[in-house]
Amino acid sequence: MDQPQASVPVPQVIWESLELTLSNVVRALTKDIAKSLGKSHEPLAKALSGKIKVHLVEEDAAEDARCPFMCQHAETPAFLSPCGQPILWGSTRCPAHLVATEPKLRKMSALKHEDVLYGLEEDGTVYSGQGEPVGFYDGTRLTLLNTS
Ligand SMILES: [Zn+2]
Repeated sequence: MDQPQASVPVPQVIWESLELTLSNVVRALTKDIAKSLGKSHEPLAKALSGKIKVHLVEEDAAEDARCPFMCQHAETPAFLSPCGQPILWGSTRCPAHLVATEPKLRKMSALKHEDVLYGLEEDGTVYSGQGEPVGFYDGTRLTLLNTS
């Protein structure tokens, strides 16, 4: 009787490296065990050749393969932003947020500029990840104040 198997998206290059490494280790271990027993390694190798299905996703996967759960991140604790981890296949969230409820924290829009994530309030005020006001955004132009 087949049971449905849950799978987790994995970057393809990591999976292929892992699979190659593991199959080399299994092959060497199989031959080592067979040699210790004074038997042929073929039956053991055949018994260990079963495969499972794994769902693979490119690292730059589409947004719908990323967890949209709004949570606090270590680098931007002042506001909530999408989790961004790969989702558990067959669900819409990652394993960590599968049954979680969103924390009660000020919700701002995320504004990314030169790989830095800022929080944007409805009035246009732009906040750093630590909650400090650092500039403003008028809908087309971002103005960052020099605070140093
Ligand atoms: Zn998540």
